[in-house]
Amino acid sequence: MSEQVDLAAHAAAAAFRTFAGSAPALRARLLRDIADGIEQLGDALIDCVQRETALPAARISGERARTCMQLRLFADVAQADAWSDERVDAADAQRAPPKPQVRSRLRPIGPALIFAASNFPLAFSVAGGDTAAALAVGCPVVLKAHPAHPRTARLVAGVVDAAIAACGLPAGVFALLDDPAHETGLAAVRHPAIKVGAFTGSQRGGLALWRAAQLRDEPIPFFAEMGSVNPVFVFPDMLRGNADAIAAGLHGSMTLGVGQFCTQPGVVFLVDDEAGRAFADKLAALVAATPAGTMLSPQIRASYMEAIAARGIAHDVRSLARVAVDSGQQAGAALFATDAETFVRRPDLAEEVFGPTSLLVMCASEHEFVRCAQVLRGQLTATLWLPPAAIGASSDLIWALEQKVGRIVFNGFPTGVEVGTAMMHGGPFPATTDCRFTSVGTRALLRFVRPVAWQTPA
Ligand code: NAP
Repeated sequence: MSEQVDLAAHAAAAAFRTFAGSAPALRARLLRDIADGIEQLGDALIDCVQRETALPAARISGERARTCMQLRLFADVAQADAWSDERVDAADAQRAPPKPQVRSRLRPIGPALIFAASNFPLAFSVAGGDTAAALAVGCPVVLKAHPAHPRTARLVAGVVDAAIAACGLPAGVFALLDDPAHETGLAAVRHPAIKVGAFTGSQRGGLALWRAAQLRDEPIPFFAEMGSVNPVFVFPDMLRGNADAIAAGLHGSMTLGVGQFCTQPGVVFLVDDEAGRAFADKLAALVAATPAGTMLSPQIRASYMEAIAARGIAHDVRSLARVAVDSGQQAGAALFATDAETFVRRPDLAEEVFGPTSLLVMCASEHEFVRCAQVLRGQLTATLWLPPAAIGASSDLIWALEQKVGRIVFNGFPTGVEVGTAMMHGGPFPATTDCRFTSVGTRALLRFVRPVAWQTPA
């Protein structure tokens, strides 16, 4: 086992009791100090992220604002101590047999292993949402840096370490694992001192780590968020008068950040009538005019290029638009189309292609939407463009989608996940390994706690 992993996990275990017992106000201060420290890094942080990820400065400063907002939101939750869900069942000595008093509350689960994501170098990395949620409830964090942004990871880890020292907390409350190797992550998941894991990334990586967590002598919860094709269903009625706006919004959502979002809309269902075909032509024109963009890492670009090359020669799939690239670092947007029969028959067409591409599925009628929804696997989101009067009404499609997804978006776009108290960013397998939990919003902390009850005689 790597010495770095062993040291970090033992230090986290040693810090756990003190941190779990720390005052809510102290943990709130820690999170606020981290947010302040990130802001104080100023342009040095933006420059560092930009050099490592090629993301535009505006996107990075937006992501920094979101990261600090998340930290402060979790600070408020920690301070209010409102997450603990305390319950008391009163004793009753007169009952036969006498009823004991049972008190319970949620308690931190133990040292958490968190994997930074490549596509959110701040908001889902060292001091991102997972870290904020774990620290808020008193779980020390061992953070596996993502190899695509190692300097950014070290810069932010310095801020976290400084905040821990300023709060007088043990140094073991946080550790960075910056050795880029699968073995490092696996050794950390297998370490007996680690009690919970959280991950965002590929299905292959997420499942390898989840399996390792389940095969330990003491299996632990491991929450992997592994992506999604985020189906969009556009009802024909909505194309009357709105087609331009929906096409522009969908194109923006599909190509935002060079398509490198887990909520990117990868499959769009349309009715194959005159309006549906005109909509497909509009979207194809927008895709063809999209400037090429640099992807987060050479590996992510290589996977994208391979996937769209395969789609381009697939049987019964037509290529509607494809942006050529002249630089080895860049990737161009691409739009494909097929029919509902083919989509239902070919599960590979419903798999995530991480990047700026979507597949249009031309359906004979709205009824085929339901059949297509039924063959989908678990998803983070589904989006419906339908008349406002139909929102909230029960329908076969909405029921089918409720069984498949964590969040249903009406008349909007799936990218841009709000951070709040009601958000659900999760979904049935393979979108995540546990459909009961979210990785965005304040409910995300429920992954890092477990109920403990104390029973006393009547
Ligand atoms: P990734 O390959 O899953 O890597 C994420 C983390 O997991 C890295 O820290 C990596 O560390 C570790 N890892 C990966 N495979 C592992 C394995 N078999 N055993 C142990 N550790 C492993 O994700 P990525 O590098 O961000 O991007 C690759 C692909 O993931 C993309 O092309 C895309 O398909 C998908 N992705 C999805 C999302 C999403 O939000 N769902 C986000 C980003 C990426 P080391 O390499 O250091 O071992």
